[in-house]
Amino acid sequence: MLELRNISTYYGNIQALKGIDLVIDRGEIITLIGANGAGKSTTLMSISGVVPPREGELVFEGQSLLGVDPDRIVGRGISQVPEGRRIFPHLTVRENIDMGALLRRDRDGIKRDLEYVYSLFPILAERRGQAGGTLSGGEQQMLAISRAIMARPKLLLLDEPSLGLAPLIVQQIFEIISQINSENGTTIFLVEQNANQALKVAHRGYVMENGRITLSDTAANLLENPEVKAAYLGV
Ligand code: ATP
Repeated sequence: MLELRNISTYYGNIQALKGIDLVIDRGEIITLIGANGAGKSTTLMSISGVVPPREGELVFEGQSLLGVDPDRIVGRGISQVPEGRRIFPHLTVRENIDMGALLRRDRDGIKRDLEYVYSLFPILAERRGQAGGTLSGGEQQMLAISRAIMARPKLLLLDEPSLGLAPLIVQQIFEIISQINSENGTTIFLVEQNANQALKVAHRGYVMENGRITLSDTAANLLENPEVKAAYLGV
């Protein structure tokens, strides 16, 4: 579905990605783990076009994404939930959710998807008239995920969805990620510092260090890998 070939991305003169190769197949949950500053967010932003790569090739469903505007990348079926959630604090919950469907014209489909996100997150239905900024951190994460789902993505990019959330909420968010994948067949690319939880929901994983992929395997194997255990699982 998506292939990154030898992708290099820069911030000015700083090279954040140093030739990344990565493959995501349809229907998978793939996780990318690594320390702070390894280049995980940059990988997501390279895919979504927010920080376009300078070298390499990026192919989604047989077509190159290089040079394509972020809006058009959303239109092709890739939605991103950015780190830190970035909801609109002064808009209501419902208005925030509706923002995700701005590019769509199929009213019946939009209505169905709205009911679907309310079924995933009943708390958002209860709070639909409330300003987004009054929600808790976990609820704002749910809102950001809902907004992304409303674009009906084929590929959903999630940047650190568990960051700063209480353990119970983290558990709930990971269960929902699994559910979105299994119910809709939505392919998910999950960037996480919480490697343990991420590898438990993912099918395969990549490990990143200093802008390079250093390891790739099934999630089950990575959970058992001694180096991964020592560096990322706190075992
Ligand atoms: P984190 O978990 O902290 O977000 P990360 O693995 O997602 O870490 P990136 O945010 O992708 O890492 O950062 C990769 C590298 O690029 C880091 O060395 C970082 O300092 C650098 N970097 C990120 N954003 C910028 C920017 N806007 N300008 C310059 N350098 C940047």
